[in-house]
Amino acid sequence: MDFGPNYTKTTERMLVTFIVSLVVCATYMQLRHLSKVFAPENRLYMNRLYLFCVAYGMLCYLLAMLKSPGRPKQSNPTLANIDKMKKENNYCEKCRNYKPDRAHHCQHCGKCTLRMDHHCPWIMNCVGINNIKQFYLLSLFLAFAGIQTVLTGVYFFFFDHTPELVDHSYKKFPMLIFYLMFLIVSGMMSFTLLAIVISHMN
Ligand SMILES: [Zn+2]
Ligand SMILES: [Zn+2]
Repeated sequence: MDFGPNYTKTTERMLVTFIVSLVVCATYMQLRHLSKVFAPENRLYMNRLYLFCVAYGMLCYLLAMLKSPGRPKQSNPTLANIDKMKKENNYCEKCRNYKPDRAHHCQHCGKCTLRMDHHCPWIMNCVGINNIKQFYLLSLFLAFAGIQTVLTGVYFFFFDHTPELVDHSYKKFPMLIFYLMFLIVSGMMSFTLLAIVISHMN
């Protein structure tokens, strides 16, 4: 999702809050309601698999957000050196520092990032040489968890008619609308995450 170049820290905080709330809601729904579509003997395993994906995904999320993406070492180049670096396109005017090949200056962080992939507002950080692995792992594992939520959700609401479930109020209007919107948002997020992983595989 592209927010253009001018989003603020407040937008980024809102996006992080949105992700954390969505994951908490999805986990609650999955464990409390949706996992009932699995037979009791399989439920424990499916819940463990789900919790593993969420826990590992969120751990990677935290690391991708908090780790430094990789910044060039600060040096004090001489005037002669600066001229040479400028000629070789290896000088950042804003940082007044050496900028190695494949490093880029990020206008959101106000710093250069080594092997910069992009600045991700969803993790309030650049994705660079040091945190790109965590970025892909969080995308992959949260996508797995999200897809499980969507698939079990669709089955739960549309195909499952076991007596255990039929009388529950959340299968009726207006809660049904809330849950369906929730499933649509979860589905969109999961497929976006999966698309990120696939597009970066090569
Ligand atoms: Zn810079
Ligand atoms: Zn950045």
